[in-house]
Amino acid sequence: MSETTKSLNFIEQIVEEDLVNGYTKDELRFRFPPEPNGYLHIGHASSICLNFGLGLRYNAPVNLRFDDTNPAKEEQEFVDAIKKDVAWLGYKWDTERYASDYFQQLYDWAVELIKKGKAYVDDQSSEEMALQKGTPTQPGTNSPNRDRSIEENLQLFEKMKNGDFEEGTHVLRAKIDMGSSNMLMRDPIMYRILHKAHHRTNTDWCIYPMYDWTHGESDYIEQVSHSFCTLEFAMHRELYNWFLDQVYDENKIRPKQREFARRNLSHTVVSKRKLAQLVEKGVVKSWDDPRMPTISGLRRRGYTPEAIRNFTDAIGIAKRDNLIDVSLLEFQVRDHLNKVAPRVMGVLDPLKVVITNYPEGEVEWLDAENNPEDESAGSRKVPFSREFYIEKEDFREEANKKFFRLKLGKEVRLKNAYIIKAESCTKDTDGNIIEVQCTYDPKSKSGSGTEESLRKVKGTLHWVSIKHAVQAEVRLYDRLFTDESPDTHKDKDFMEFVNPDSLKIITAYVEPHLKEAKIGDRVQFQRMGYFCVDPDTTAGKLVFNRTVGLRDSWAKIAQK
Ligand code: ATP
Ligand code: MG
Repeated sequence: MSETTKSLNFIEQIVEEDLVNGYTKDELRFRFPPEPNGYLHIGHASSICLNFGLGLRYNAPVNLRFDDTNPAKEEQEFVDAIKKDVAWLGYKWDTERYASDYFQQLYDWAVELIKKGKAYVDDQSSEEMALQKGTPTQPGTNSPNRDRSIEENLQLFEKMKNGDFEEGTHVLRAKIDMGSSNMLMRDPIMYRILHKAHHRTNTDWCIYPMYDWTHGESDYIEQVSHSFCTLEFAMHRELYNWFLDQVYDENKIRPKQREFARRNLSHTVVSKRKLAQLVEKGVVKSWDDPRMPTISGLRRRGYTPEAIRNFTDAIGIAKRDNLIDVSLLEFQVRDHLNKVAPRVMGVLDPLKVVITNYPEGEVEWLDAENNPEDESAGSRKVPFSREFYIEKEDFREEANKKFFRLKLGKEVRLKNAYIIKAESCTKDTDGNIIEVQCTYDPKSKSGSGTEESLRKVKGTLHWVSIKHAVQAEVRLYDRLFTDESPDTHKDKDFMEFVNPDSLKIITAYVEPHLKEAKIGDRVQFQRMGYFCVDPDTTAGKLVFNRTVGLRDSWAKIAQK
């Protein structure tokens, strides 16, 4: 997480300039403000790393603020999931805040605005108000309710609050300018009536403040110095400032809104609404399905917090919206897992091999290095016996010179074990090879001599002793969408691009010590990729998710 050696991004430059122009370091305060209406996704990771990264850089507090102003869509489940995800990414918030904690203060300020003649109750239908809104090139027209008396406004607003009116019948609007060139300034709605219980304030309120009214005032209440949000809020900045002007005390910190670009990832969607659709329609099993670009899905898939942080660091903060290729994320995952994931052997598509000159019933426990990238990872013992599995694709009866795996009459080394030579094979009635008979060279045992004294052969295969193998369910994942940018097509819904083959379930055979593997453990199946133990694992059933392949093989396949 050390960023000191890198050049400053434009957000950091803004903070640096503010430090020169009057802010002191201890006045800096940031926040990450999720709306608890879904699980966090990889796009949010950029915002989390940005805000918490600034906190670390400047040793400044960062609040985790839930923007919970819409009781219709928000739930405690999402609050809990968001906290878990931010913590898992490795960040500590200063305080946990909720916009709903400020409902009373926001209400009191709204009353003040009414008293100053800067807000009014409108009881027109939403259609009528929409007609008066104007267009980007034409000014709007004033509501007939715009000049209600302060007295009447106060009474109506109180009645709204007391639940005397039906939903949708009244709103409180800021009295700004129906002729403004910024449509958001044309008397925006501050409050609406919603007769719905809120996950925290329950039925205390039946009027709920709108996002624009809530967000900036919450920043101000928390004395946040910099409020960073995504570009779609650029036009809202004028309104953010207008609302602040109404309550601002010169002796306090005045929060500053600045915008950065949303991060979009290829072959997926990063919008909670769309991700919710995938869950609701059963395209995926849950929010944390390993195919989802949610933080919880990536965690379950086996991604590490370090890899996600390195990814957001590598792609940086941009001023314009852009699409990041998912292979960049996978690169970081591979890079980190290479350093930390123990190597093990697992056969995904088994073919039986018998060594005809190896004594029946004999078992040797051979030394196997856990991680060539990390000496401290030590070694383990793997059982070797007369019958074992190799990958089907690792044997051919005949093949050209470039095939360094097992073929009839040729030799390969078995990882951590002996050199074997394929002598013959057996086929079923359909002509499928079902067994390979080999002989082994007893003097070729790995580690039994110096590097030089051991005979060398070109290919090395992984294998698992049949008698000792543990069965595991392995879930192989492919891209969730067949299109690079599924939600940018004008004439097609993103759901049309769902990849029907994004999940394939197979039975694999793995080393016996993996029986002890715990949920969340990450390993490299040598030559096959990185895998992670899934929470569906039980005492009798081991389940692995394939996290990522060893190389970016998908890109090659896609080009074929
Ligand atoms: P979604 O469309 O997925 O619901 P959102 O912006 O409505 O996204 P919030 O919970 O309001 O979700 O977002 C919390 C913070 O994360 C905001 O500051 C928002 O700007 C930021 N954020 C959300 N999506 C992205 C993204 N794709 N890239 C960068 N930042 C993002
Ligand atoms: Mg939102």
